[in-house]
Amino acid sequence: MEYLFENIDILDPVDGEKRNMYVGVEGTGICWLSDKAPQEPAKRVINGKNRLLIPGLKNTHTHIAMTALRGVCDDQNLNEWLFGSIIPVEDRMTPEMIMISAQMGLLEAAAGGTTAICDMYACAPQLARSVRALGMRGNIGNVPLCTQNFSLDDCSVVETEQLLAEFWGDTFITPVCGVHSVHTTCPEVWDWVRKLEARYPVPLIMHMSEAREDVETCRKQYGDTPAAVLEANGLFANQPLVAHGVWVDARDLEILARNRVSLAHCPVSNLKLASGIAPVTEYLAHGINVSVGTDGVASNNSLDLFEEMKYAVLLQKYRSGNAQVLDSQQVFQFATTNACQALGYKNCGRIAIGYDADLAMLDLDRPGLIPQRNLLSNLIYCTNASDVRLTMVRGRIIYENGDYPNVDKEKIIRQFHDDVMPLLYS
Ligand SMILES: [Zn+2]
Repeated sequence: MEYLFENIDILDPVDGEKRNMYVGVEGTGICWLSDKAPQEPAKRVINGKNRLLIPGLKNTHTHIAMTALRGVCDDQNLNEWLFGSIIPVEDRMTPEMIMISAQMGLLEAAAGGTTAICDMYACAPQLARSVRALGMRGNIGNVPLCTQNFSLDDCSVVETEQLLAEFWGDTFITPVCGVHSVHTTCPEVWDWVRKLEARYPVPLIMHMSEAREDVETCRKQYGDTPAAVLEANGLFANQPLVAHGVWVDARDLEILARNRVSLAHCPVSNLKLASGIAPVTEYLAHGINVSVGTDGVASNNSLDLFEEMKYAVLLQKYRSGNAQVLDSQQVFQFATTNACQALGYKNCGRIAIGYDADLAMLDLDRPGLIPQRNLLSNLIYCTNASDVRLTMVRGRIIYENGDYPNVDKEKIIRQFHDDVMPLLYS
């Protein structure tokens, strides 16, 4: 076998914790899982003393290229922030700057144990190539943001066709499409998406009911809620992934459940932009698949999924006044097994034989993680991205102790400082 994690504690989102285990990796998958060492020697043995192995985390809602916009504006509500502060700066980004900013974001994600992202932004084919070069997985698309005069010259259309031509059927990159949101697109966009879906069963992603005024705008324009309008216009036909879903009513939840829509819950971004708190426990009560996303770092301001899991569980306790309403295991599943379901990844998201070797190894040897009486409790409530020491995707290491074996970290950081920041903020 290629790798053997020796004498390591593991935490699986379904089976829970096991101590002092041996986990073997061969090819792209997990081939050995036992409290005994395998007979077969490994090309590399990784010492698991004071280490914890978990499935790599999946970030189901990102705009990874927004790294250069970190800290642009911290104190505005969603629409004021987006249209008043973010888009004017974004308009200064060239494709080259977007690509370097995205590569910078990917370094952060990989170092935090993230093994997959679901991203919508401009320059999607370039992002897909960067994700591929790093060795990560990505569901990548540039979804239309257009409220009038939509044409096939729109860059989202051009880039979607490029993504499909280059990556359809790829094992690491899933081209995705969708709509930015109901109120930032028009019926001509929805027509195009439906026609595209008839050609390729491309997974759809979209923002939905993020701020209260998004729902009010949609009601004024179309006489119904975003969930109802999306369903009526055929955009829920292929089990899409919607981000936010903060302002939903009981009928919306029924619509989402019957269409088997997955939710990308983004608690930190929703709090920061004062959008509200998604009723996650109601989603779960309706049998809706819930995952977690960070959103872009301009509204988070990090890509730390450990923090996202902690906020997700705390907010539902706060909302309900009931500490039992959501537990650590459920939110761990949000970022692993549920995320894999949302992203269409089979045999992924668990530490089990036959599953893909998408793994993150954490360092437990620091005062803030002692005692290790309950590994799951520590994972959700005490761990953060900087505790990750190694990230592996499909049996290949993409990050280890500050280094990235597949990309030139120094070059990306240098380009970011020299070629992005001076042009963006001069
Ligand atoms: Zn977003």
